[in-house]
Amino acid sequence: MAYLELKDINKIYPNGFHAVHDFNLSIEKGEFIVFVGPSGCGKSTTLRMIAGLEDISKGEFLISGKRANEMGPRQREIAMVFQSYALYPQLTVYDNLGYGLTLQGVDEDEIEEKVTKVAAILGLTDYLDRYPRALSGGQRQRVAVGRAIIRKVGIFLMDEPLSNLDAKQRVTMRSEITNIHKETGATTIYVTHDQTEAMTMADRIVVMKEGVVQQIGTPKEMYFDPVNMFVAGFIGEPPMNFIKTSIKDGIATIGENKLDLKSQFADKISAYEGKDIMIGFRPEAILPIATDGAFSMKCMVELTEMLGDNTNVYVNIGDDKAILKVNPHNTPAMDTEMEFSVPYESVYLFDPETEMRL
Ligand code: ATP
Repeated sequence: MAYLELKDINKIYPNGFHAVHDFNLSIEKGEFIVFVGPSGCGKSTTLRMIAGLEDISKGEFLISGKRANEMGPRQREIAMVFQSYALYPQLTVYDNLGYGLTLQGVDEDEIEEKVTKVAAILGLTDYLDRYPRALSGGQRQRVAVGRAIIRKVGIFLMDEPLSNLDAKQRVTMRSEITNIHKETGATTIYVTHDQTEAMTMADRIVVMKEGVVQQIGTPKEMYFDPVNMFVAGFIGEPPMNFIKTSIKDGIATIGENKLDLKSQFADKISAYEGKDIMIGFRPEAILPIATDGAFSMKCMVELTEMLGDNTNVYVNIGDDKAILKVNPHNTPAMDTEMEFSVPYESVYLFDPETEMRL
């Protein structure tokens, strides 16, 4: 039996807006699940239904096999961290951390022991006497996380907890949250629109679009085995290149390049003869030379962006555009011709209408 189960969960807001459609997910105890998707896709709404802050319009939510739809937030044994830290400004860090325990009637000695321990885990020991206004954004966020983990709860919910931090703080907090998860073992559901956070933190990722789950899987499955163009384009940075072309005699033409798809993907393309098809490949999957076991393509270099660890090369392949990631030492000159190849195993084919992977 899964620890948490979402069965055909739907959310229809009072104004009639259908924000979440038939959401199904079973979560094992201790898993770290990340809901990811663009703004407005229904991530927070789903999290809030799990938290008991929002009614479930249709469907069933189970905790340890028991229906939880009607349980209040407290009964669900859940701790939540929001994007806005929601610290008490009039309380010190120590009191912010201990407040929940005080409310529960935990005695002072035990509170001190727990606050000291959590403060040590989060590097807040030197700040216990400070008020939130005298803390940096990162430190405030740590207090918010600390306040949630200080209570022993089974379920830890986080809604974009790092979005107010700068890039460097986000990286640090990312690994801290992963470590805290390892230490506490609490089942965690984490909401973000940032695919890097999803890829680096999740045991399993749930990609959502317009209230509909697109795919559920490990970071590796999402990256290597996306089910549709949306997931393929959402996971990975820069995103996967998509080029629409038509197939004639099993050959796809892109600019001056002829790709013999029938030699490699005969089964997949059989229904697409004479029709359009979408070819996808990741910027980082290319080789900057022509080689065996790959489709070679000639293109014109339009622009290059040297990023230090690699260079993004923006190219025109006939009328189509693509981004190629290359070693910065091999950065091609702008306005020159370049040849690259995409290994067969790195070629993704999609139906341009349904956007589903073939
Ligand atoms: P973000 O990353 O911007 O927070 P999200 O994926 O978390 O986005 P939600 O906040 O869950 O998205 O919102 C999903 C959809 O439901 C949005 O289109 C939003 O406008 C709508 N919505 C949210 N709250 C309400 C409400 N109280 N009444 C009607 N519609 C709402």
